[in-house]
Amino acid sequence: MNLDELQKQIKQLTLNSGAKLVGVGSRERLEKAPSSANMGYCLPEAKSCIIWVYPNPINALENYFAKKERMSIKQFQYFAYTSAWTTAQRIKQFIEDNTEYKAFAVIPNGKYRKEEGSFSFLEADLAYPDFSLRYGAVAAGLGHLGWSGNLVTKEYGGSLYLAGVLTTAPLKPDPMAEENYCNKCKVCFQACTTGYFDKDKEEDIQEVIIGGYKEIYAKRGTYSKCGIGCAGLVGVSEDNSWSTWTANHICIKQYPNQEWKAKPFIRKQIMKKILIDKNTPSELRKFNKRIVKSFAKVAAHENTGLRPLKDTNPRCGNCSFICVADHKKRIELLELLKNSGKLYLDEEGREFVRQITKNGEEVTYYPPTEKEFFSNLDKKE
Ligand code: SF4
Ligand code: SF4
Repeated sequence: MNLDELQKQIKQLTLNSGAKLVGVGSRERLEKAPSSANMGYCLPEAKSCIIWVYPNPINALENYFAKKERMSIKQFQYFAYTSAWTTAQRIKQFIEDNTEYKAFAVIPNGKYRKEEGSFSFLEADLAYPDFSLRYGAVAAGLGHLGWSGNLVTKEYGGSLYLAGVLTTAPLKPDPMAEENYCNKCKVCFQACTTGYFDKDKEEDIQEVIIGGYKEIYAKRGTYSKCGIGCAGLVGVSEDNSWSTWTANHICIKQYPNQEWKAKPFIRKQIMKKILIDKNTPSELRKFNKRIVKSFAKVAAHENTGLRPLKDTNPRCGNCSFICVADHKKRIELLELLKNSGKLYLDEEGREFVRQITKNGEEVTYYPPTEKEFFSNLDKKE
């Protein structure tokens, strides 16, 4: 099979899996990028990366941010990560069965380099994947890094999941994206309850140059600050009016990133409060223990592509989810979030939402549980 045909068939395999965008990048374009852009770490003679994208459905995002239900995003995230991994393996097999080239299926998320010891999302300051799909995606012409640090594409913004394969085949790189589609609206910053990344300061820890373009994004704090919020162990707005999909109404945006890093006891006190402190309702402590257990299990597998549906529980992810391509829609989603109220747990541990309506009335409702949501889907099919 010649290289053009190979490239065409690989792209088709990604599109058949439900991907909406796909591009090819070269090793040369990543030579001036940080170490996690080094293809050789995973596959010594790699020359090309193929990166593809699964964007979040808009109606699922509307429901998620309005706190109507979080199961549509859960379902899509499960689909995206599992498809990312199975498709990457299929493409690796396809390349190796049909050509003399080698290939490497990149784990879509959850695998980090451990040169400096073990990795924990609750403790880590920095986290480097084996191969950064974001850097690969920029090299493949899919877009550039946005203020949040996520890839932002023209067609779907940054509300998406990435997947990729490395190969020794010298494929033809797609043109680099000429424009950066992040308009610095900072909606991502407003939607984040932890302050993991800065509103105004640019990251200066390492220069990111890909294909001759300098990538500019927000200064980041320690990785654990996002980890604890993304997992759902904390998450409420600074004015205490809306939460993420967590019942732990603790805002850590108040701690500047330097303080968070310099004083690990702050993190330990929060963990003690939410997991052990008898003043914390027992159903909340149980909820938090379930989250920690589920994350520990997934971390041990080091591959979100193998994560079962029951352990797929997006509770934040806001900085990426909210960054849809249409700026007006982004603002609308932010408004939905700001008016979405807060999540609580009842005595049986069931999640409910308390919201203040436009008329100033307080409403309380129970979003569908996992069982209700999926059994209703079964009935519709
Ligand atoms: S939300 Fe706005 S500022 Fe943030 S990455 Fe997206 S486009 Fe850029
Ligand atoms: S995933 Fe959530 S906590 Fe982490 S940076 Fe994004 S918005 Fe902030």
